[in-house]
Amino acid sequence: MAPTYTMAGGKGPNSYSQHSTYQRAFLEVAKEKISEAISTKLEINSASNRYNIADFGCSTGPNTFLAVQNIIDAVGQKYHKETQKNPDDNIEFQVLFNDHSNNDFNTLFQTLPPTKGYFVAGVPGSFFGRVLPRDSLHVGHCSYSLHWLSQVPKGVADRNSPAWNKDIHCTGFSDEVTEAYLDQFKIDMGSFLKARGEELVSGGLLFLLGSCVPDGVKMSETMKGMLLDHLGNCLIEVAKEGLINQGELDSFNFPIYPAHVAEFKSVIEDNGCFTIEAFERISHANEEFPLDPEFLATSNKVTFGGVIESRFGKEAMERTHELYEEKCPEILPKLANAKSGMQFFIMLRRN
Ligand code: SAH
Repeated sequence: MAPTYTMAGGKGPNSYSQHSTYQRAFLEVAKEKISEAISTKLEINSASNRYNIADFGCSTGPNTFLAVQNIIDAVGQKYHKETQKNPDDNIEFQVLFNDHSNNDFNTLFQTLPPTKGYFVAGVPGSFFGRVLPRDSLHVGHCSYSLHWLSQVPKGVADRNSPAWNKDIHCTGFSDEVTEAYLDQFKIDMGSFLKARGEELVSGGLLFLLGSCVPDGVKMSETMKGMLLDHLGNCLIEVAKEGLINQGELDSFNFPIYPAHVAEFKSVIEDNGCFTIEAFERISHANEEFPLDPEFLATSNKVTFGGVIESRFGKEAMERTHELYEEKCPEILPKLANAKSGMQFFIMLRRN
């Protein structure tokens, strides 16, 4: 069964497509890095005139269009430099958009840039398995998706387990809970890399952009962690008001785990198919969320509202959202002191 934690679909005011500027700012900064990496690391076979590019966890757009355009522009420039031929007349790009099958692919396809200059296909399915033929992919991209686990880790939802988690995410304060989340991350990330290792041609590139927690920092010391703690407190309030069953809330956990840098690197090394060409922290003007209750509440709603609604119902989700915004000013001073540095740019080359 496809999970329910896709981003809010459509193009309306409460959609992911209207509320992903924070993620987009990172893609804009990464453009230069991607272009440089493709220019120096991607081997262009001048006999080949077809390039397959995939975006894993593409959501509904428009960020994915920017991500793939950055890659296409860079491959075109490199092709031109090496062959002196016009890429537009000589190479064909096929772009494969991947996300869960219940992602809003209709919005994605309806909003494709009109002059896109590439062929398109949707490849629905979990990226923890193979979604493309073997040795068919030249450049893969995945942004802000790999902190989503395939499932809630074993034990954290079970009151009788030592890994039982009273919080709604892995705050970093309990060793047992952290171990359970990390074990699941290792399984999932291992599966992701195994699948991409099979799909990518030798010399192909894989760009992974998104959140990692700096080593030695606990999730709840970061802004994203504090915001999840805030969401947890609002859910408790809603349970007190009677819209959520407290017992159900006690066993509720988000299947998300932004790994620590060292943990991420060790899974890549264990997989053995890739060379780490870059693993860098990226800083940019939009690095942290703006301290604006309305922005924070809406961004929380489009990202996590689906999970909350599917577990506790629409009314509880709406009430949680209301409280989230109302109580947000109380946590702004704390957010201002959060530990920063969660944006990472990772580039892997298939051996
Ligand atoms: N890449 C976009 C969207 C990020 S939102 C951007 O940078 O703005 C994260 C996306 O990952 C969601 O659309 C979610 O459905 C998708 N996702 C999470 N787990 C996935 C999985 N196992 N397989 C495919 N897609 C997944």
